[in-house]
Amino acid sequence: MAVQEIDVIVIGAGVAGLYALHRMREAGLSVQCIDAAPDIGGTWHWNCYPGARLDSPSYTYQYWFSDEVLNEWEWSERFPAQPEIKRYLKFVADKFNLHPDITLDTRIRSAIWNAEQARWLLTSESGEQWSTRFVISCVGMLSAPNAPKFPDADKFKGQVLHTARWPQQGIDLTGKRVGVVGVGATGIQVIQTLATEVADLYVFQRTPQYAVKMNNYPLDKEQLDYWRAQYPAMKTDIHTTFGGFEWKLRELGEAAEMTPQQRREILEEAWTDGSLKMWVGVYPEMLADPEINAEASEFVREKIRARIDDPALAEKLIPRAYGFGTYRVPLETSYYDAYNRENVHLVDVKENPIQRFTEKGLLVGDTEYELDVLVFATGFDAGTGALTRIDVRGRDNRSLDELWHQDIRSTLGLQVHGFPNLFTVAGPLAPSTAFCNMTTCLQQQVDWVTDAILYLRDNQLQQMEPTREREDEWVAHHDEVASMTLMMQTNSWYTGANIEGKPRRLLSYIGGVGEYRAICDEVRESGYQGFALG
Ligand code: NAP
Repeated sequence: MAVQEIDVIVIGAGVAGLYALHRMREAGLSVQCIDAAPDIGGTWHWNCYPGARLDSPSYTYQYWFSDEVLNEWEWSERFPAQPEIKRYLKFVADKFNLHPDITLDTRIRSAIWNAEQARWLLTSESGEQWSTRFVISCVGMLSAPNAPKFPDADKFKGQVLHTARWPQQGIDLTGKRVGVVGVGATGIQVIQTLATEVADLYVFQRTPQYAVKMNNYPLDKEQLDYWRAQYPAMKTDIHTTFGGFEWKLRELGEAAEMTPQQRREILEEAWTDGSLKMWVGVYPEMLADPEINAEASEFVREKIRARIDDPALAEKLIPRAYGFGTYRVPLETSYYDAYNRENVHLVDVKENPIQRFTEKGLLVGDTEYELDVLVFATGFDAGTGALTRIDVRGRDNRSLDELWHQDIRSTLGLQVHGFPNLFTVAGPLAPSTAFCNMTTCLQQQVDWVTDAILYLRDNQLQQMEPTREREDEWVAHHDEVASMTLMMQTNSWYTGANIEGKPRRLLSYIGGVGEYRAICDEVRESGYQGFALG
């Protein structure tokens, strides 16, 4: 097969990839967007499990670049379900006629840097090849599924599913005995949805969560008009907040001066909002000061306790080993109510881990749980996994996989020293890895990458790469900010703890979306100081 010559390859046709494709085309560059999936949508394509739903308010989770899209698209709910987000992405792709430049069903196997030509050679699983000046990776921070390898999997006669590879045509679980391993944001959505559908639901829980009650409602015309009137201000304001949402954190120090009662009133108000405001829209001390965090944790525990009929069961569902907000906060609607049902059974696998599959189900301690279907809601190799599954070789044949298996580093989460012209949208060490309303951060990063590529083009430059010194500085700053919080004290995908052997580092920059954007803007204004251009 002939090698195809092109200016830019975008890997991934999700929220970021579609926007990157649009920006590159607008800039007059030749570009192909390549995705392994049979359809566009990225995360919103793959995660079609029962109950999959957005937990950012829809009116903040959108593209801001087109007033036409903003005016025409009508969100049906504050927190819409997965099919609606996928429809939205298709609507945008149709409107801008993106399809001709998207190649689906194509998984990139390797990306090799050719220093002489200053170009990347990309090869797909089926042997197609592209020679490209720039690679914009939009592979997603939560797209490489992770599942535990329990022994004897081949013996199990039932069906095993992972939430991130759910059959697109759906699957009827009515009347079945279903097990769910994992109670993160995904497991919670699955469990509350399946509880009323299946005969018996066995929830294998290792670490309970502090889930916040979601306040979802249909958006009527009046509400849509209200939000549309906010859009012009919102499209800039959300870039200045801590989490890329419309909520603003109080100034650092304010909460410490308050009485516990005053802080409680703030928490009650955020709780009533029924959103992630409880997490990223109250006060910064909640994620940094152990006492203030303990207070907030107790507040949420009370709310959970009040929902569960059996006090002993409630205690099992209430987290104690870590503080509220230090593990990604899930939203729920009927998750805790599900445990008041007779067909839902909680199996604590913390003390007594799952041992192995059997022919009929799972063995936990001495007890065999008979199942027709086992669902893994066990998350992802986050931040790095989707890129390290590709054989990426930079200057001097260095391997990104090897690097990130020793030390997860990057510059602004956007580039990695040793890998010229590779841009890692939603890469590790940026807010977009975890602490951001994704559409806000992905668009900001794609805009930054676009500016960088146009700068190179306009200055007849071929390549760009952060210096080792600049990268060291960014990593040190990232770690310093992380160490001022409580985040590293909790084991989760945020710290790489969910993957055996993964180096520990907070995967996402926690200095705030506004602060991060200012730093990125400064780098651009300085003519990319700290980056070697050539
Ligand atoms: P996750 O947060 O990593 O949760 C994985 C779950 O699987 C945890 O409960 C984990 O327990 C459990 N687990 C893993 N291995 C296990 C084992 N061997 N035995 C028992 N339990 C095991 O993954 P996720 O729920 O898919 O969520 C990932 C992220 O996706 C979220 O944090 C969120 O950012 C995003 N998400 C967003 C939405 C939304 O916007 N609506 C919905 C879903 C997901 P431990 O905690 O003990 O490790």
